[in-house]
Amino acid sequence: MDEGLVSVDKFSGGSQAYFLTHLHQDHTRGLGAAAGWRHGPLYCSPVTARLLPTRFPGVDASLIRPIAAGASASLSLTSPISGRTVSLHVTALPAIHCPGTPPAPN
Ligand SMILES: [Zn+2]
Repeated sequence: MDEGLVSVDKFSGGSQAYFLTHLHQDHTRGLGAAAGWRHGPLYCSPVTARLLPTRFPGVDASLIRPIAAGASASLSLTSPISGRTVSLHVTALPAIHCPGTPPAPN
């Protein structure tokens, strides 16, 4: 995929869409920018969307796009290299990672 389209757990800018897998500190670099954060739409789980404004009050809440586990979102981006439209279809999966998440059935 071209540079400048999406960033995952990296929020320093330069992308058109951002994905936050969860709120652990090593996944949120750049979200606490003193001047606020408004680089683009930020996709995350509904739980993360609820907690995000408390942890990072500088994030523009209008950019937060929760996706429930199993739900999908379609994104239309523009390649900064070719100028072409790039269509993405993403589906959120539970990572079974954060404390409090029940283990997956075997
Ligand atoms: Zn973690």
